[in-house]
Order: sequence, then C-alpha cells, then structure tokens
Amino acid sequence: IERTLSILKPNAVAKNAIGAIYARFESAGFTLVAAKMLHLTREQAEGFYAEHQGKPFFDGLVGFMISGPVMVQVLESENAVHRHRDIMGATNPANALAGTLRADYADSFTENAVHGSDSTESAAREIAYFFSDNEIC
Ligand code: ATP
Ligand code: MG
Repeated sequence: IERTLSILKPNAVAKNAIGAIYARFESAGFTLVAAKMLHLTREQAEGFYAEHQGKPFFDGLVGFMISGPVMVQVLESENAVHRHRDIMGATNPANALAGTLRADYADSFTENAVHGSDSTESAAREIAYFFSDNEIC
C-alpha cells in the first residue's frame, strides 16, 4: 500500500469542484487518510515548489497557488503515486487525455487544477510538508 500527496489548486476549489473531484478519488479506489483546507502563504508555496525556483513559470505558479484556498489530501491505494498521476492527466492540459482531472478542470498550464506527488520519495516529503503524523488516519 502506498500514499501520495494531492492538492486541489485554487482554481479547482473556486469552481466548487471539491466534491466532484473527491468522488473521482473514491470511485478510483483511493482511501482518503488526511485532508485540510489551507490558504497557503507565499513562504509555504515557495517552499513546496522549491525545486522549480528560478524557472520562468515559478513566480506565476507561486502567485496562482496563493490566490485562494487549496485542499490538500493524502490518498492511499496500491501504486497510489502513479495511479493518481494517471487520473490527473498530463501537466500541460493541452496534452491531458479526455476524462482526466486536468482535461476537465484545468484552465492553463500553470492553472492545471491539481497536484500529485511524482515519486514515492516526493510523496513522503510532501506529506510531511503539510501533515503531522497525528493528522493522518
Ligand atoms: P504537480 O507538481 O503540480 O503535480 P507536475 O509534476 O505534473 O505537476 P511539475 O513539472 O512538477 O509538474 O510542475 C509543477 C507545476 O508548475 C505544474 O503542475 C504547473 O502548474 C506548473 N508548470 C510546470 N511547468 C510549467 C510551464 N512550462 N509553464 C507554466 N506552468 C508550468
Ligand atoms: Mg511535480
């Protein structure tokens, strides 16, 4: 069994899509083991995306991520990291397959609706970034 860190970005929350997206997670067989709504500070967003510091899209990404509340959750299933990335679809929504979350909810490359950890190592780091052990069930 594996865990991944998932974020519904500000545009997904602003579309009142939290319930619809959580329903997809549950239908896909994920168990929600932690969740919280946060309005990220600039420091939190910059720290979360530290690997992208200096890239041309970084400032826009951080500005977007602090533009409104996000939902942060931990999803559990077999092969959770890859299965969650499959249902998110491609990072650039222009390349996201029909039926994926990004095909349905993204507005642009940066405003692509959802985040998911890209490896079990990043999942462990990202889960610890947002949740303490006693917040994960
Ligand atoms: P995430 O980490 O959010 O799950 P990802 O792993 O598919 O997405 P990364 O390469 O880690 O993509 O980029 C992090 C985020 O930065 C993307 O989800 C997107 O919002 C934004 N981003 C990445 N590349 C670009 C780009 N070339 N132009 C605009 N925004 C970008
Ligand atoms: Mg990434």
